Amino acid sequence: MHNDLLIYNGLVWPSADDQPIPDGSVLIQDGRIAKVGRFKARAKTMIDADGCLVMPGLIQGHIHFCQTLFKGCAEDLQLLPWLKKYIWPLEAAHDPDSLHASALLTAAELIKGGTTAFLSIETVRHTEAVFRAVDQAGLMGAIGHCLMDETGGYRPLSVSNEDALAECDVLLDHWGDHARLKLAVAPRFALSCSEANMREASGYARDRGLLLHTHASEQVEEVNLVREITGMDNIDYLNTVGLTGPDVGLAHCVHTTDAERALLKESESHVLHCPSANMKLGSGIAPIREYLDLGIRVAIGADGAPCNNRLDQLMEMREAGMLQKVRLGAEHGITAQEVVRMATLGGAKLLGWEQEMGSLTPGKRANLILVDQSDWPVLPSSDPATNVVYGNCSRDVVMTMVDGEILYENGELTRIDEEALRATVRKQRKLLFERAGIA
Ligand SMILES: [Zn+2]
Repeated sequence: MHNDLLIYNGLVWPSADDQPIPDGSVLIQDGRIAKVGRFKARAKTMIDADGCLVMPGLIQGHIHFCQTLFKGCAEDLQLLPWLKKYIWPLEAAHDPDSLHASALLTAAELIKGGTTAFLSIETVRHTEAVFRAVDQAGLMGAIGHCLMDETGGYRPLSVSNEDALAECDVLLDHWGDHARLKLAVAPRFALSCSEANMREASGYARDRGLLLHTHASEQVEEVNLVREITGMDNIDYLNTVGLTGPDVGLAHCVHTTDAERALLKESESHVLHCPSANMKLGSGIAPIREYLDLGIRVAIGADGAPCNNRLDQLMEMREAGMLQKVRLGAEHGITAQEVVRMATLGGAKLLGWEQEMGSLTPGKRANLILVDQSDWPVLPSSDPATNVVYGNCSRDVVMTMVDGEILYENGELTRIDEEALRATVRKQRKLLFERAGIA
């Protein structure tokens, strides 16, 4: 239970589909939004939002807490060598302490940049450490335990399906009733999981009402290999093993055929668009305009820090908007409003929490952010969608609230000791790289 709180005097933008309300207020009771509009009220805590946009918290559809400690290595590589030379050896070298540090570092950056919820893929071991860190940080989200029974010859990360699902059982025992966090089941991608692994993972998740999260059709080399091995297009194959549906998030979907797009639409699967990662790994530009025209569900995410290197949703939103214009011309790309919709309501739908977040609607959890509208890059524009997508950057986020609790305000994280975290991540990075044998 949290004290009542009133945010007043702000430009309140309840959702991408609503008009902004000047001099607006948001009243919060017991962690939930009680009232939104232009009204006067008193509350125990009063927050003057003068000069700020008050909008729903951003939701990242695809992220890897476990990889943030690897930031700045594995540069200038395509996906498969990037995984095999750096990412997999470093994931295999994680222990609970390094993973906890990586996850807390991730959470700190996400919260400061206005992300309030997420869907993630972690590694094959120690996922409990990510739950502990994110619980401490106060974010909401679904943490994906990674399944890999085939690793293309990289044995240290190979875990039998029986062991992987037994670990999911343990995670559910400890974290199954958490108010802010839930478990997702994440077979990594078609090339690192046997057919049985993917079928069993989807069966396991559906029996328990858990989300499924995987990577799909990120690079041409990957889709060609999947076709060689399975005789099918990637999304078609994922569909046959149970990895499509309204409970499935498919990261990337850069290279898809018309038939696969029809399958994404029919199955109500979620495409998780990661523009920075697609650029940095040279993957291509996902056809987001076409997906939206078909009515396919799309969310946006930063992916892992080593292929980005930021975890900055406002940056991803800017790039999502820009890239479709590069593909299709400025008049035929996507609008700033569509970008904001994907980064808020799209993420809420992905998480199965559309009744809980994604808009400032009475009854939903108070997951919201204040974004400064007074600095040079946005002045004198007053259109919130344009400002948020093209003008503002993550440093303009001045307050982040999850579940009615302020996690970031006045430049300070409220739940994380930043000095201690800096020291911990430097130490854990050094130990991790020594264990992995990477200089
Ligand atoms: Zn990823």
